[in-house]
Amino acid sequence: MRQSSLVVVANRLPIDDNTAPDGACEWRRSPGGLVSALHPLLRAAPATWVGWAGGTGPAPVLPDVDGVRMHSVPLSQADLHDHYEGFANSTLWPLYHDAVEQPVHHRRWWEAYQRVNQRFAEATAEVAEPGALVWVQDYHLQLVPGLLRALRPDLRIGFFLHVPFPPPELFMQLPRRAELLRGMLGADLVGFQRAQAAHNFAQLAVKVLQLPATDRRIAVDDRVVRIGAFPVSIDTAEMAALATRPDVAARAARLRHDLGNPGQVILSVDRMDYTKGIEQRLKAYSELLADGHVKVRDTVLVQVAVPSRERVGQYQDLRERVEREVGRINGEFGRVGEPAIHYLTQPFDRAELTALYRVADVMAVTPLRDGMNLVAKEYVAARVDDAGALLLSEFAGAAAELSQAYLVNPHDLEGLKQGLLTALRADPADVRERMRAMREHLHRHDIRAWARSYLSALDESDSLLTRLGANA
Ligand code: UDP
Repeated sequence: MRQSSLVVVANRLPIDDNTAPDGACEWRRSPGGLVSALHPLLRAAPATWVGWAGGTGPAPVLPDVDGVRMHSVPLSQADLHDHYEGFANSTLWPLYHDAVEQPVHHRRWWEAYQRVNQRFAEATAEVAEPGALVWVQDYHLQLVPGLLRALRPDLRIGFFLHVPFPPPELFMQLPRRAELLRGMLGADLVGFQRAQAAHNFAQLAVKVLQLPATDRRIAVDDRVVRIGAFPVSIDTAEMAALATRPDVAARAARLRHDLGNPGQVILSVDRMDYTKGIEQRLKAYSELLADGHVKVRDTVLVQVAVPSRERVGQYQDLRERVEREVGRINGEFGRVGEPAIHYLTQPFDRAELTALYRVADVMAVTPLRDGMNLVAKEYVAARVDDAGALLLSEFAGAAAELSQAYLVNPHDLEGLKQGLLTALRADPADVRERMRAMREHLHRHDIRAWARSYLSALDESDSLLTRLGANA
């Protein structure tokens, strides 16, 4: 077995196989954000990526991608059902997103979660060279840091949670809360999207495990685990380059024409997920139509809602409710050839999505809770013309950075309606000033800056980063 000095561990390998077993699009483009961020480091390290390749047969042996080794971990149908759809996406996901849907608990799912995490830890232990840096990603693999440390105490282990980490009163509901915390504390550095999440984690370490903890450090046995906020970002340069491509500009003009050259276009792009606030947004929009504040001829809403996790009941129910509501609104307010809502469920590729961003006068990103929300950042990065109003939920991680957005509380229907109207009617000079400030922020805080700041915090001695300095 070839070994590497840098190992990234994530539920999925970053390769093109966008269809999950349920046929859902996982939006894991190749190269994905994480891949582009780590690319220079991964290539120079040399590095291995440990993850699931898709499919439920034996783990395929995969060729290197751009010099990065792909080490696949096998998952069975039962693993997918109980680990991925079960514990990860029906227990942790709803609980971590303010329990906006009821988290479901099954002991069988917990067993699968442990089993799959153990398999990932063993695979990682095999491919990491002595003293390697290992970076474990996200809520599917929270036990991996602890399990891996037991197998390989020589490694330097990082863990990053892309989703929110909930306040103690919610996390305390988890039957296996102590084990989950101990799993994460196997890392040397635990990174979150927001400072509030690190604070929640520290409080839980005190409350559940009686460990001495601050919002920066937790003492575990004879070690100190560092914790902190590292807000993830996007490849702003790639987005800006796409946005200025002539074919993308032409596509944007075409889209506007196809939409009937409306006065204003409101756009929302979401995975079909109950955390995204799609229903609240539709309700606000339909009330604005009913009130007469918004007219179909002047304004259109484009709602992209790409189905995901389609074998999970809560997602099936959501899709039905959303589609019923879109049908009702279009029936009530649309005219022949002029729907009130352009509702699209097929996934868009990067260029097409960028064209859509460029058409949107108002980008409505109003999740009830979101770890970060990359769409909000992509919209900002795509507006190289400094135009476009971002309506952003206070409950998206992105709101902590993009404070110049038009911020709203999506639970407050009146506030949401008012926010939409404010964004639609905003003075173009105000819109431009806000957009410029947000673009400036993203320019400095792009995905490479994120990866660097996390890895240099993990690699305190800076041995890897110094060694790779010129290349990274
Ligand atoms: N996305 C895409 N095609 C689509 C819709 C979305 O490629 O049709 C991408 C989008 O550009 C973004 C990601 O999917 O990079 C969604 O990330 P976000 O953080 O907004 O939400 P998540 O799905 O991770 O909850």
